[in-house]
Amino acid sequence: MSAYAMLTDTTLCIGCEACVDACKKVNGLGPDRLWPEQKAIDDLSATRYTTILRRPGPRYVRQQCRHCVDPACASACLVGAMHKTPEGPVVYDSGRCMGCRYCMVACPYGIPRYDWNKAVPYVRKCTMCYDRLKAGKLPACEEACPEKATIFGEREALLKVARQRLRDNPRKYVQRIYGETEVGGTSVLMISDIPLDFLAWKPRLADQPLPQLTWAALSKVPPVVIGVGGLMAGIYWVIGRRMKMQALAAAAAEQAAQAAEDPRAGEKGRE
Ligand code: SF4
Ligand code: SF4
Ligand code: SF4
Repeated sequence: MSAYAMLTDTTLCIGCEACVDACKKVNGLGPDRLWPEQKAIDDLSATRYTTILRRPGPRYVRQQCRHCVDPACASACLVGAMHKTPEGPVVYDSGRCMGCRYCMVACPYGIPRYDWNKAVPYVRKCTMCYDRLKAGKLPACEEACPEKATIFGEREALLKVARQRLRDNPRKYVQRIYGETEVGGTSVLMISDIPLDFLAWKPRLADQPLPQLTWAALSKVPPVVIGVGGLMAGIYWVIGRRMKMQALAAAAAEQAAQAAEDPRAGEKGRE
């Protein structure tokens, strides 16, 4: 099966945010708001899976999940809630997630966000429109881009396009395809006329996939420690979720009791 990818050329981006709007629409995301972990309203969030970062020039740089070939988020997840699909996207299964947020810590690009607005929060990030791909459609952001600053296709074909652009304009582009080899390669590739190292957690990421480093480190930890750590995280999640559900049920019961005593109580509460 072909491994799909996206290529973003920042020199073509005009910062219109049509990609952001299209992503919000297909994913049913709400309006932007400032979340606890967010620095600015245009940062990635549970309601913004992709964003446009502004740099002097002006330059416009898209930020989104890179859909790593060997994703650290999936490796860090103890219950397999994140996984790399054969088609390329790295997807998330909220039914398996235990809310430990190890994926958020492990990601070298700082991508996953927590959905703080929900009583039982989940992790949120770009899925490369996996459901649309399975239905034979393009990612919504790619389809919406008026400048074709982001294009979609097979990873090998997009690497050829990127290499050609770098060859044709050696003075214009930084001579590097971001995502070609770093952290083992990513399925979102980028080329640019400004360095894009600021998108990652450190200036020059190594080519070695981070999961290999993770497991090399973990192999030196006694299995019992990992087992107990994972078990404790699981127990913590189950207890936390149960307490939240109990609190919600108690609040609903109290409201129902008030409404039974005084039918106007519910209306007053909503006033
Ligand atoms: S960029 Fe981060 S969240 Fe996306 S696949 Fe890679 S490790 Fe996972
Ligand atoms: S691929 Fe889909 S989910 Fe990802 S940024 Fe584009 S529109 Fe959003
Ligand atoms: S739609 Fe295209 S041109 Fe507009 S901000 Fe997004 S990537 Fe840039």
